[in-house]
Amino acid sequence: MYKRIKVSNVLSKTGLYDLDYAYNPYAGCYHGCRYCYGRAYTRYGEVAEAWGEIIYVKENAMQILMEEVRRVRRGVVGVSTITDPYQPIEAEERLTRRGLEILLGSGFEVSIQTKSPLVLRDLDILSRHRDRVDVGITITTLNPTVARLIEPRAPEPAARAEALKRLSMEGVNTWIFLGPIMRGVNDSPEAIEGIVALAAETGSRLYYDFFRMKRGLAASMSPVKERYPEAMSMEHGWRMRVVEIVGKLCEREGVPYEPAFPARERGSSLLEYL
Ligand code: SF4
Repeated sequence: MYKRIKVSNVLSKTGLYDLDYAYNPYAGCYHGCRYCYGRAYTRYGEVAEAWGEIIYVKENAMQILMEEVRRVRRGVVGVSTITDPYQPIEAEERLTRRGLEILLGSGFEVSIQTKSPLVLRDLDILSRHRDRVDVGITITTLNPTVARLIEPRAPEPAARAEALKRLSMEGVNTWIFLGPIMRGVNDSPEAIEGIVALAAETGSRLYYDFFRMKRGLAASMSPVKERYPEAMSMEHGWRMRVVEIVGKLCEREGVPYEPAFPARERGSSLLEYL
């Protein structure tokens, strides 16, 4: 269900590494990923409780953004941080597209993170401003069955991979977010290898991160846990073994890589695994 709301600000300061601001034109996210932290951080109670079912459209976002860019110091804007800026409603509302036009037209840098090939609609803007834009695509797994379980309504992995290739071909600076890595779900060398190969093919940096427990996730993750009992494990030894696998594969393929936190280079958000 979509609800239209009015907001008093849409460009928020963020403490996220390497981002100065976040631009979230929607609250909530249709993709409804089972591991999504967004529900723990949104200020809207019903959006958090019915994550993926209720989405707010900030209908005055453009007007507010235009006022805000006149006031604030230039910097790097994360698009978005607690929602997917290219979830399906964006095809009609175009709040992300129009936001990009305003931000880039006003001299800001933009770091986009999404799971959707809808980002390709905006290739004209992205390639025109490629010196101030980077685009990250979250790919947790290339296995469509696993993806359907953990990210029930997000675009399938093959579509994300194609989007990444196209962006890269157009000269846009790209990166892959491999996260969250979950024990027994997407942590095997074979699973990671395919994603590293995609990073190599597209010249993308790879950021990785692990599942983290947040408010609301116990219930949301239960279908995943049923199929993969260790999915919510945060055991240190296991994580270190996976870090080693990621490192070996990336070094073999010549892919730059690093943990998503704390030392991230550019863009993507702390809260988002788009
Ligand atoms: S992880 Fe990203 S795409 Fe998935 S529900 Fe959360 S905001 Fe949406």
